[in-house]
Amino acid sequence: MADLIDGKKISQDIKDEVRDKVTWLKEKKNIEVSLAVILVGNDPASTVYVNNKKKACEYTGIKSVSYELPEETTEEELLSLIDKLNEDKTINGILVQLPLPKHINEDSVIKRISPDKDVDGFHPESVGRLSIGERGFVSCTPAGVIQLLKRSHVEISGAECIVVGRSNIVGKPMAMLLIRENGTVTVCHSKTKDLREVTKRADILVVAIGKPEFIDASYVKEGAVVIDVGIHRKEDKKLCGDVLFNSVSKVASQITPVPGGVGPMTIAMLMNNCYEAAEMQNGIEAI
Ligand code: NDP
Repeated sequence: MADLIDGKKISQDIKDEVRDKVTWLKEKKNIEVSLAVILVGNDPASTVYVNNKKKACEYTGIKSVSYELPEETTEEELLSLIDKLNEDKTINGILVQLPLPKHINEDSVIKRISPDKDVDGFHPESVGRLSIGERGFVSCTPAGVIQLLKRSHVEISGAECIVVGRSNIVGKPMAMLLIRENGTVTVCHSKTKDLREVTKRADILVVAIGKPEFIDASYVKEGAVVIDVGIHRKEDKKLCGDVLFNSVSKVASQITPVPGGVGPMTIAMLMNNCYEAAEMQNGIEAI
C-alpha cells in the first residue's frame, strides 16, 4: 500500500513559514505584504475560492484588499482598475479570479497585470522567465506539486517524470519545473498514441487530465510516485481526482489523496508568491 503524501500538513507548514517571513518583513523592515483580490460577478465556486484566499491572507498576516465587481463590469473598467493597482505602491500582488464573465477577454486581463505583481504566474513574462530559468512567479498548483515532492523526499533529479495534461496553468509549467529540477520529462495529452505505455515508464507520474478517476493501476509502474492534480465532485457529492485512488494506491509507493493532496497547496503557494512579490519589489534578499 502506498504512503500518503499529506498536502494538508505540507500546505500548513508552508503557510506557517510564510507567516514567519511576513512578520519578519513587518517587524524588521516595516513592510506590510498586501494582495489585491478582484472578483467579477457572483459565481458561487469563484466566491468560495476568493473567500479561501482571503482567509489564508488573514492567517499569514498578508493584507487582502478586496474588489467585488458586478457581473456587468466592462473589460475597460476592469483594465483601468488593474492599471491603478499596478501603480499602487501599497499593493504587492494582484489576483483576478478566473473564469471571468464571457464579455471580458481573459488574455487581455492577464497581460495587463504588471509581471512584478503577477502572483498567479499566468502573465506571458512569468511563463517566459520560468522557461529560461529566471526568477519570477510560478503558477501556484505546479509549484505546489514540486513542494509536495521535495518535502516527501522524492528524488526528482534523474527521475523519469511523466506529466499527463498540457494546459497553460498546470501541465506545461509542471513540465518546466520538473526540467528545472533535473527530471527527464515527457508530456502526454489527448493525442498521445499509447498513453498507458508512456505512463508505465514513470518514476514520478503527475496527472492533470481533468477526467474523474481516469488513471487506474494499469497505467502505473510498481513503486511510482503518483501526484493527482484533478478535482471533481461525484454524483454522491464526494470529491475525487483524476486517479482511481483505491486501485493506484496498491501499486504506487507514494500518492496524493483527493481531497487533501494538491488542492491545499495552491493557496499556500499563492501566499508564498505574495511574500516574494513584496521581497522583490523592495529589493530584499531572499530569506
Ligand atoms: P484542462 O482541461 O485545461 O487540460 C486537460 C489536459 O489533459 C489537456 O492537455 C488534454 O489534452 C489532456 N487530456 C484530456 N483527455 C486526455 C486523454 N484521454 N489522454 C491524455 N490526455 C488527455 O485541465 P487543467 O490542466 O486546467 O486541470 C486538470 C485537472 O486539475 C482538472 O481536474 C482540474 O479541476 C484540476 N485542477 C486542480 C487544481 C488544484 O488546485 N488542485 C488547480 C487547477 C486544476 P489536449 O491538450 O490534447 O486537449
